[in-house]
Amino acid sequence: MPVNSEFPIVHLVSEPVNPLKTIYIACRTCYSADYPFNIWEKDADKQAMLDLVGKVLKSGHHSTIEHCQYTFTISGISRACTHQLVRHRHVSFSQKSQRYVVEKGQFEYITPSTVKSVGLQGDYAELMDKINEFYDKMIQKGIPAEDARFVLPNAATSSLVASLNLRELIHIANLRLCVNAQHEIRKLVGKMSALVIEKEPWLEEYLVPKCDRNNYCDEIKSCGRYQQKVL
Ligand SMILES: Cc1cc2nc3c(=O)[nH]c(=O)nc-3n(C[C@H](O)[C@H](O)[C@H](O)COP(=O)(O)OP(=O)(O)OC[C@H]3O[C@@H](n4cnc5c(N)ncnc54)[C@H](O)[C@@H]3O)c2cc1C
Repeated sequence: MPVNSEFPIVHLVSEPVNPLKTIYIACRTCYSADYPFNIWEKDADKQAMLDLVGKVLKSGHHSTIEHCQYTFTISGISRACTHQLVRHRHVSFSQKSQRYVVEKGQFEYITPSTVKSVGLQGDYAELMDKINEFYDKMIQKGIPAEDARFVLPNAATSSLVASLNLRELIHIANLRLCVNAQHEIRKLVGKMSALVIEKEPWLEEYLVPKCDRNNYCDEIKSCGRYQQKVL
């Protein structure tokens, strides 16, 4: 069945208890004679923590933000999109198996808006129905799901649980929020970033496309928001 525009469905299900303070003690520990737990127990002013963390991040000392871990549940994204997401090597994934889960009825699929805009939505749906019919036929004939899945398209949706630390989340946001990234992963990473920013508004300046942090564009095809870096 085709899915609606609310997709992908993203929830933040696990997050650090006190991310700013955690990063702050990581930073302070590097430059202090004091024990880290003593630093933790002393009440630090929020602005002082933000200033130090900002300074340390600008200096490139990024291991300090690896202490904050986030877990998202993600559903209703295409296999084309999950294939891009799983290229990120510092994320832990658990993805719905096409070997163990047999698609019942019409499998769920994504229709790109470009298909709709040129009026091919009907043909596209017809093709998905045909694939579904053949998939069902294979299952009925006793072909195992791990082989029947060979005909499932990149458009078929998937579900994942993804866990990653803040450093990797910022890296992914910097790459995938760029207008040149594929629209679906851009939407997905936009939702993941928004959920984290809702909890920690100070992270808004980091969870942005890379150009917003670099003040230049390093893409071959620039959208024009920033001057292109001469390579
Ligand atoms: C716009 C765009 C187009 C793309 N097009 C293609 C394409 O045509 N074909 C294709 O195959 N892929 C493509 N990719 C995927 C891309 O090559 C990366 O595999 C993907 O973006 C993961 O990024 P990463 O390696 O920086 O990040 P992660 O795997 O998330 O790693 C984060 C960072 O950790 C470090 N790191 C991780 N692993 C290693 C390692 N083994 N050695 C050294 N440092 C490491 C790097 O600094 C890396 O940037 C594309 C990505 C984007 C954003």
